[in-house]
Amino acid sequence: MSSIFSLEGRAAIVTGANTGLGQGLAVALAEAGADIVCVGRSPAPETTAAVSALGRQVHEVAADLSSTGDIPRIVAETLQRFGRLDILVNNAGTIRRADALEFSETDWDEVLNVNLKSAFFLSQAAAREMIGSGRGGKIINIASMLSFQGGIRVASYTASKSGLAGLTRLMANEWAARRVNVNAIAPGYFATNNTEALRQDEGRNREILARIPAGRWGQPGDLGGAAVFLASRASDYVHGAVIPVDGGWLAR
Ligand code: NAP
Repeated sequence: MSSIFSLEGRAAIVTGANTGLGQGLAVALAEAGADIVCVGRSPAPETTAAVSALGRQVHEVAADLSSTGDIPRIVAETLQRFGRLDILVNNAGTIRRADALEFSETDWDEVLNVNLKSAFFLSQAAAREMIGSGRGGKIINIASMLSFQGGIRVASYTASKSGLAGLTRLMANEWAARRVNVNAIAPGYFATNNTEALRQDEGRNREILARIPAGRWGQPGDLGGAAVFLASRASDYVHGAVIPVDGGWLAR
């Protein structure tokens, strides 16, 4: 009997797979057996090499998720290359930092467009295929601690990640009976480009570390187990959950 966590024969789209958490997620899904479509505006040579080294197929789609224009092509190329779409990971995301009193409309729109609008419309495009094929599928949104908390100086990011948690539940409500599982992973504080500014700020770095029960920043590989669970049949009855992978941050 194959493992309930096996992803062999599945095709997975991971957005923002060239670096950071997206790279860790793509490699984890490939380790469990999935073929991977890396979607992003930058080439992903390290990730494609790592997936190939695991003996899995990999395809890159160049797409800018600051608008929805590339979304139909992302799904079309996945079907052309692999003939199926089983898993979508909405990982691509961006952040802008400024005091709420000064926050600009540009910083609002740029973040909302990538983190929320494109994540929704790519989920819609993927779910149409998953439902249309009759096979169902798995959608995993990358949320944040700011899906639960307010944060500081990141108004558009907090709005986007709180919104993404809500949309995770909405999509789960609408698609659960059609064999599409929609869930989210809420990473705590991970050492990537996204948190470079926080780690460079000695005071903030100290405050953050002191609050993490695990006593360290997360590494991209730390998300792998939750991602494989949510992408596999092990999670077939899990719908609309937002699972923190945070070294205990929210328990504090
Ligand atoms: P990262 O290293 O900055 O990676 C972000 C990824 O998103 C990159 O691949 C980036 O591509 C891509 N991206 C940004 N804007 C895009 C656009 N317009 N079109 C296509 N791709 C775009 O940050 P990360 O920490 O790995 O973040 C990954 C996800 O995890 C994000 O959704 C982030 O909000 C979330 N997250 C991170 C943390 C953390 O502590 N690091 C915590 C909670 C949630 P480029 O390389 O081309 O910019």
